Amino acid sequence: MGNFIEEIIEKDLASGRVDKVVTRFPPEPNGCLHIGHAKSICLNYYGTAVKYGGVCNLRFDDTNPIKENENFVRSIIEDVKWMGWHGNIYYASDYFQLMYECAVKLIKKGKAYVDDITPEPMKEMRGTLTEPGVESKHRDRPIEESLALFEDMKNGKIADGALVLRARIDMKSPNINMRDPIIYRVLKATHHRTGDKWCIYPMYDFAHPIEDAAEGITHSICTLEFEDHRPLYDWVIDECEFEKKPHQYEFARLNIERTIMSKRYLKKLVDEGFVDGWDDPRMPTIAGLRRRGYTPSALREFCERIGVAKANSEVEVGQLESCIRDELNAKAPRAMAVLDPIELKITNLPDDFEEEVDFEINPNDENAGVRKVKFGSLLYIERADFEAVPPPKYKRLTPGAYVRLKGAYIVRCDGFEEENGCLKRVLCSLVEGSKSGADNSGVKAKGVIHWVNAADAVPAKARLYDYLLLPYDGVHEDFSERMNPNSLIEKNAYVEPYLAQAKPLESFQFMRQGYFCRDNKSEELVFNQVVGLKDTYNKK
Ligand code: ATP
Ligand code: MG
Repeated sequence: MGNFIEEIIEKDLASGRVDKVVTRFPPEPNGCLHIGHAKSICLNYYGTAVKYGGVCNLRFDDTNPIKENENFVRSIIEDVKWMGWHGNIYYASDYFQLMYECAVKLIKKGKAYVDDITPEPMKEMRGTLTEPGVESKHRDRPIEESLALFEDMKNGKIADGALVLRARIDMKSPNINMRDPIIYRVLKATHHRTGDKWCIYPMYDFAHPIEDAAEGITHSICTLEFEDHRPLYDWVIDECEFEKKPHQYEFARLNIERTIMSKRYLKKLVDEGFVDGWDDPRMPTIAGLRRRGYTPSALREFCERIGVAKANSEVEVGQLESCIRDELNAKAPRAMAVLDPIELKITNLPDDFEEEVDFEINPNDENAGVRKVKFGSLLYIERADFEAVPPPKYKRLTPGAYVRLKGAYIVRCDGFEEENGCLKRVLCSLVEGSKSGADNSGVKAKGVIHWVNAADAVPAKARLYDYLLLPYDGVHEDFSERMNPNSLIEKNAYVEPYLAQAKPLESFQFMRQGYFCRDNKSEELVFNQVVGLKDTYNKK
């Protein structure tokens, strides 16, 4: 059984209300897209247009020249295409003439009038849920007068905000959106596409249905906040006398715990320097997720798993993470990187000892095979893999313990060297005959640790990420008081030379550390942590 949108579409196709599904994804170019938009793209494009052999337009809702710009348009196109979308691109601003004509038509029908109301009295006169609104003294102004004033608005003769065009519907309507909403305003601002051609701009509730009708949209899918606007949507379509009538359907927007999902706030994070741009890997933007190492298929999988609902809810971040983890677990090559290095010296090998050992590229992919890794007498290991005084059940290096070096030999820890009171190097001896895959030593290792051969180790930076926001403590509502000071920790690591060949955005499993993806911006060798190894979501 499909989701409720699919049920509606299947019924419409069966009854002949539509013969081809046409949807749209309508971002406002006032910020970069976030994961909530990815959900909308998945629903409008994959779940609807692609599934039923229709089309999905990318349409920029560029009706507010003050907040919108060309850079956001470009980044949105890049992101939507990256998600796999194909189709035609439209702009609401292409319909400004049509919208203007629709407005004139409404005035001529007595369905719109010019008013001089300003925001404060507008709010007061709108009434409340229990009290009807108050009619403006200009509500019954002659049609000719409204037409002339609207022309003055259009021709730049009216100051910003001095006059508005209002739909003439019903001040007593139980739906406040129907109480003579403003449909056009004067705004002397330069638009990024139409320049100074217009100094009147349509309001969203008036513009959106016209855009949909102009493109022959059959199913106009939006989030639940617009449910109460649907009567106005239908009113505009009817009164402007469009023959093909698009229908609006609402679904629950995506909310993820500890995740900011509003362009306005994301913009604040960028503008106030909390993050390093819209594509900072900590950002829940599509650009940030891409740079973090997420793939379009993982985002689609996430949208599949969470489904489409009619009731708002909050998704756990772990659910998103498990999608990319599952994908990388199946696909990502394994490699060794030491993020917090100390030396391990094998004392019973010559200093210049060198050998190649086989390293299994991916145990989950039988076709992946092995690759050769150099092994010598001096290695780097993780500082945490040695304890001079081990806690109970410690399975790693400690004097007297036997541990396997992943893919290579078992070593016995003999001791350690300090420098100025700090651990400098761990001293070990190699166990004869313990080579991985051909072990006849009879020695049992307590644990397995990863390592990097010092002779050909490559320095790299590893960026470890935590959530941008601390958990909500019931007090600090504002995100700027909940910023996690440890959301980024940079480590000076050593990695295998194999990893120095990584292409930007190529991902690997760093053995025992997590999944990492080569950064696509730094000149240096930088790896961003995609996600940890442990699944905290599915384990629950
Ligand atoms: P924001 O509040 O982040 O600015 P918005 O809804 O104003 O979001 P738009 O650019 O107008 O952003 O949105 C484009 C489309 O994406 C709309 O159809 C909107 O319903 C949808 N969308 C936005 N946020 C979400 C979300 N969190 N979950 C699902 N769909 C969303
Ligand atoms: Mg919006």
